[in-house]
Amino acid sequence: MSSNYNQLISNLEYLKLKHMLLHLDETIDFASRNSLSFVDAFLRLSNHEIDFKEANMIKSMVKVANFPHLKELKDFDFDFQPSVNKQQMLDFESLRFINKAENIVFLGTPGVGKTHLATSIGIAAAKKRYTTYFIKCTEILAQLKRAKLENRLDARLRHFNKYKLLIIDEVGYLPIDSDDAKLFFQLIDKRYEKRSTIITTNISFDTWDEVFLDPVIANAILDRILHHAQVVNVIGPSYRTRNHFKSE
Ligand code: ADP
Ligand code: MG
Repeated sequence: MSSNYNQLISNLEYLKLKHMLLHLDETIDFASRNSLSFVDAFLRLSNHEIDFKEANMIKSMVKVANFPHLKELKDFDFDFQPSVNKQQMLDFESLRFINKAENIVFLGTPGVGKTHLATSIGIAAAKKRYTTYFIKCTEILAQLKRAKLENRLDARLRHFNKYKLLIIDEVGYLPIDSDDAKLFFQLIDKRYEKRSTIITTNISFDTWDEVFLDPVIANAILDRILHHAQVVNVIGPSYRTRNHFKSE
């Protein structure tokens, strides 16, 4: 028996089932105390390995998503920003919008929590193993531009199209020239009605043709983004500067 026990330990080591090994004694004790069947005991033991693998998988999904921080919805103070509807955010967090290939647009002035909310939803998606990627608008445009120069634009567009959820942060903080707008259009057009995109922006839709120097393309982009989209207009004070304006 004891030599079989030792053999089992070396089998688990050989198979690299570290967490089954770690919980082996405890599971043997639990099984004999509760007269577990072999199936129940083995299920219990193997669940330890699976829990560990799942947790690791989630960690790596979140890591590769390139979030600026790991703030979640539970860290968002809804009392501070009453224009944000908590139920709507919880619905986003349920990821229903991803299954419908809908977009979300967070619109508002700096510091109101747009990036925080977009990131929270992204983290929820990554935890549910949806491939997710967070990128600033200037960065994705720079990458597409470089790809075009190097004759590999299609591959780059296909790469960004793979993500079930793409978060493009800070659209419109800097003017977007006609060439960049065309690249942005191709990106949005590829994802249109197939994949969800979250956008944060400080420019209201009626002034998109001022930020995008080509108004025709600006409209074509907006058209596709907004066709199946929920727009969250965050109107309120900046969380960053909240302490500077506290009433006495
Ligand atoms: P925006 O993207 O709209 O400029 P951010 O999401 O970057 O704003 O928010 C600025 C900072 O304030 C971040 O650190 C964010 O986590 C925090 N923040 C913003 N709104 C809230 C809020 N209602 N509750 C908690 N933290 C918030
Ligand atoms: Mg932001």
